[in-house]
Amino acid sequence: MSIKADYLGMPLTIDEFDGENLAYFRHCAGHAFHLQQCGACNLLRYPPTTACPWCMSPQSKWVPVEGKGEVHAYTEVHHAIQPAFKAHTPYLVLLVDLDTQKGKPSQHDALRVVGNLAAPDGTLAPPEPVKAVGIGTRVRMVFSDVAPGLALPQWTIDEDAAQPAKPWRYPQE
Ligand SMILES: [Zn+2]
Repeated sequence: MSIKADYLGMPLTIDEFDGENLAYFRHCAGHAFHLQQCGACNLLRYPPTTACPWCMSPQSKWVPVEGKGEVHAYTEVHHAIQPAFKAHTPYLVLLVDLDTQKGKPSQHDALRVVGNLAAPDGTLAPPEPVKAVGIGTRVRMVFSDVAPGLALPQWTIDEDAAQPAKPWRYPQE
């Protein structure tokens, strides 16, 4: 069954034939992060796909994965192209290296999971933390509930982690 939902006033749809994404977001709706593990080479993958990007095997199973990592790259958006985000600028789009499977299968690989910077309750973060986060910041996953069977994985500052003294940021005005 497909999912049709509304997030910040914009429509989100997952087609009924998109089994991988339905399963992925259903796990998120239960506030549990799961990824597919290849049945042949055992590597995890992200985003959800029908076949393993490294060995092409179509066999996989969903396994729980810890939602912790560090910021690999970020974009700070001041002018929202999508009107749904206009009221939330400035906001951050984060690409986060998970601790799990970092450096595999090669030293440059990682499971890099995209999400916005959020408050601990899953709502988009206010301006103060948006200014404080940069490359190297330790983050943990939280979820934004959207609809039954659909929550979005987001990132919030990991309050319990040791943080870099000065995460890398673009030079500020
Ligand atoms: Zn594989």
